[in-house]
Amino acid sequence: MADLLIKNGFVYDPLNGVNGEKMDIAISKGKIVDKLDGKRKKIIDASGMVVMPGGVDIHSHIAGPKVNAGRLLRPEDHFKDVEAKTEKTRSGVGRSIPSTFTTGYRYARMGYTTVMEPAMPPLMARHVHEELNDTPMIDKAAYPMLGDCWFVLEPLAKGLIEQCAAYVAWTMEATRGYAMKLVNPGGLEAWGFGRNVRNIDDPVPYFNITPREIIQGLCKVNQLLHLPHTIHVHTNNLGKPGNYETCLETMKCVENQGNDGKPVIHVTHCQFSAFKGSDWRTFESGAEEIAKYVNTRSHVTTDMGQVVFTDTTTMTADGPFQYILYQLSHNKWINNDVEAETSAGIVPFKYKRSSFVHALQWSIGLELALMIEDPWKIYMTTDHPNAAPFIFYPKIISWLMSRVAREKLLKKVNKRAGHKSLLGTLDREYSFSELAIATRAGQARALGLKEKGHLGVGADADIAIYNVNPEQVDPSKQFRLVRKAFKNAAYTIKDGEIVVKDGEIVKSVEGKTFWVKPELTNPIFEASPRLKKAFEDYYTVQYENYIVPEHHLAVSHPITVKAEV
Ligand SMILES: [Zn+2]
Repeated sequence: MADLLIKNGFVYDPLNGVNGEKMDIAISKGKIVDKLDGKRKKIIDASGMVVMPGGVDIHSHIAGPKVNAGRLLRPEDHFKDVEAKTEKTRSGVGRSIPSTFTTGYRYARMGYTTVMEPAMPPLMARHVHEELNDTPMIDKAAYPMLGDCWFVLEPLAKGLIEQCAAYVAWTMEATRGYAMKLVNPGGLEAWGFGRNVRNIDDPVPYFNITPREIIQGLCKVNQLLHLPHTIHVHTNNLGKPGNYETCLETMKCVENQGNDGKPVIHVTHCQFSAFKGSDWRTFESGAEEIAKYVNTRSHVTTDMGQVVFTDTTTMTADGPFQYILYQLSHNKWINNDVEAETSAGIVPFKYKRSSFVHALQWSIGLELALMIEDPWKIYMTTDHPNAAPFIFYPKIISWLMSRVAREKLLKKVNKRAGHKSLLGTLDREYSFSELAIATRAGQARALGLKEKGHLGVGADADIAIYNVNPEQVDPSKQFRLVRKAFKNAAYTIKDGEIVVKDGEIVKSVEGKTFWVKPELTNPIFEASPRLKKAFEDYYTVQYENYIVPEHHLAVSHPITVKAEV
């Protein structure tokens, strides 16, 4: 692999305090280095272009049984969107639920190099990793779902935090998982009985535990295990009017568990949890209340879950929520329960400008991103494909960077929603540096991925170069040029190799799969004998078959952490 020198670009590297300065970036053996001595190097002339670390997506449903079921449910999603084979790439299909190879190519074209699959049922981990293995161009990881797992609920209900931590540690290693995911904590277990929980203090049937206790318990477990990311939470009551209060309660319930001002909870796709009003008729934005809270705290990070007016496919482990969506839309629906662990639902969905609710949802995502003052606290996502497919990121970038772009669309949406929207009062426009935080640096920091999201010496040489000149282009007015530039990166560099040039894949590469291996200090807590018994009692799968062997990952990249238990 030849050394590479990127010359004269406008570099945005917020983690290292670089804000659009013209400088060179040197790369050797897949890493960023201080300088290059050898003569044999390739030079990229990035004059007049923006240079950023490769994009990082903290939450995007790209692999696993739920995604695959969505593909099967929606042939109509594939007909009109066929990706032809080229010399370098394989063919594929899919607009809102692209096939694995297409997913990798489309992210790479936008300059993204790391993507996290946020909902892995532990029982289905093998399938998730098989699909991730088949997703080229990007590094990746998956979050095992633990907020409704029986082996988590049982010890937590008895206050046995260390025993719960031992189980979580085992699950991380067994499933090659990266972070703890909680989806409607307690609600999915209740859904097994056709029920749900109504608030964070509503007991989970048959378990003598409340969502509050699950969230607080797993937050504590996360700290004991020193996992790189915080707990990653999809709140209770998601998608229901009035749920901003549940969202605030969720954030508040762990505010005293903070340490040194560092985040302890990530509330994901916050838009779906920022609804005010008592029903759909009185539906309103709760973004202001949430922003106010987040602005005065340091223990929370969030991501947008931004709606785009388009046809898409909703898919979540939140089975009871998907049932509501099915009733609202009368669309086709998949409901699935994963034994002793979680549930899932899938419903195709079309967000319409003319709809009062959809238009307000569109507004709420942007209101959050603009009213939460610190860009390190809110990241750009669409909860792909729930609020929109990830291919719409360039459009969202233009809304973040340009008030004109937002207002043009605001005029065309449902009138009542337009009046209720707070967007007309918000002047803020993201700078390139803030955008770099919201699309890579902030996400990498929240994930604890030390070699991602920045361009300092020792970082992975994952780099995006966009053909837009910040000295000549005013994103506020020329938002179309910005959108175009971010749609097709001039160059995407993965581990020091040029993989995309002018929006075309020029080389296909395999990405790494990150997973976390917690090292426990006390062997007493090794959970396997108890677990083997539990498997015999509850699962249709044998203990031995449950564990995903490391050689099952195409490119395994374990991160070892020293736990306190
Ligand atoms: Zn999600």
